[in-house]
Amino acid sequence: MMNRKTSKDHDDIFDVAVVGAGAAGLSAALFLTRARRRTVVYDGGPVRNSMIVKIHEYLGYEGSTPAEFLERGRSEVISYGGDIRSETVLKIEARPDGLFDVWGSKMKITARAVVLATGLVDVLPMVPGLKEGLGKYVHLCPCFSGYEVRDKPFVAFGLPERLAQLGKFLTAWSSSVTVVSPHEFDSETLTRLDGFGVKTVQDEVTGLVTEGDQLVSIATASGMQVPCEAVFVAAPFKAASELAASLCEVDEAGFAITDTYGRTSRPGVWAIGNATDQLAHLVHSAASGANIGPWVVDYLLETSLNSKKKE
Ligand SMILES: Cc1cc2nc3c(=O)[nH]c(=O)nc-3n(C[C@H](O)[C@H](O)[C@H](O)COP(=O)(O)OP(=O)(O)OC[C@H]3O[C@@H](n4cnc5c(N)ncnc54)[C@H](O)[C@@H]3O)c2cc1C
Repeated sequence: MMNRKTSKDHDDIFDVAVVGAGAAGLSAALFLTRARRRTVVYDGGPVRNSMIVKIHEYLGYEGSTPAEFLERGRSEVISYGGDIRSETVLKIEARPDGLFDVWGSKMKITARAVVLATGLVDVLPMVPGLKEGLGKYVHLCPCFSGYEVRDKPFVAFGLPERLAQLGKFLTAWSSSVTVVSPHEFDSETLTRLDGFGVKTVQDEVTGLVTEGDQLVSIATASGMQVPCEAVFVAAPFKAASELAASLCEVDEAGFAITDTYGRTSRPGVWAIGNATDQLAHLVHSAASGANIGPWVVDYLLETSLNSKKKE
């Protein structure tokens, strides 16, 4: 009698636990709920772009707010029976029977498969005012906001290994671009940047100088002020959650290592969006959720056949 599964046991088991309710997680959940899989989505807080006024570069959503975008996605998932919970997932344990125990901040559930859609953190340099200016005059990528500040004077700073590329890229939006870095670029890089019309200043950015809501210059360690109206920061990324590190192989910044189908090193665990691909924009993150959908469904069908054979 003890081993017989009751309907209550089944009620406690979800097919999929999706961790993260941004573009990636909601998109995966939309596919999975439409494929009639019992899906719970954990919404642990603000998405990466929550501080911006308008979304750009997503066909059909141009100019929407992040809140409108998410609200539409959430209601689509709920309309197909998805269960979205305002909880942070604290721990996931892979059980010997192939299932996963998922501890949310309010309660524990069990799932047959896990989709990690936990996003990333942009690690801003320790320059006062940088975080507060994000989405106004501090930018991370010109794809999202270069058009809105086009033709203004830009300063770029941050990780030296990404700065030369960023400086060149920015000239698509403005003819006034200055790269400020204490790093000593080699002469070939300097010549190339000069060829694109990018100025370079070998110094460290120590502050932002604003007048009201406007940026007017950046201050440097040597006491210089470089006039600019927008700064672009090449900031390092780190995984927003340690869940991947507890479940599967990750890289040195904590990002899940996946194959082209979003599969991690642990069967039954997928990672999508910025949780595995730091360069994914909203549209790519949403696409990654849809891409893994069929593979997750296939996994669920195969594993349930195997467990029927064992019964
Ligand atoms: C300033 C800025 C502006 C941007 N503008 C644009 C733009 O205009 N267009 C564009 O295409 N892209 C833009 N982006 C990029 C965009 O934000 C990302 O591509 C997108 O957010 C990635 O989606 P995601 O679902 O992978 O991650 P996210 O949207 O970050 O969602 C991850 C979610 O998982 C949650 N989470 C993390 N850990 C847990 C946990 N343990 N339990 C439960 N939940 C958890 C997080 O709180 C978050 O809600 C911008 C980024 C920045 C920084």
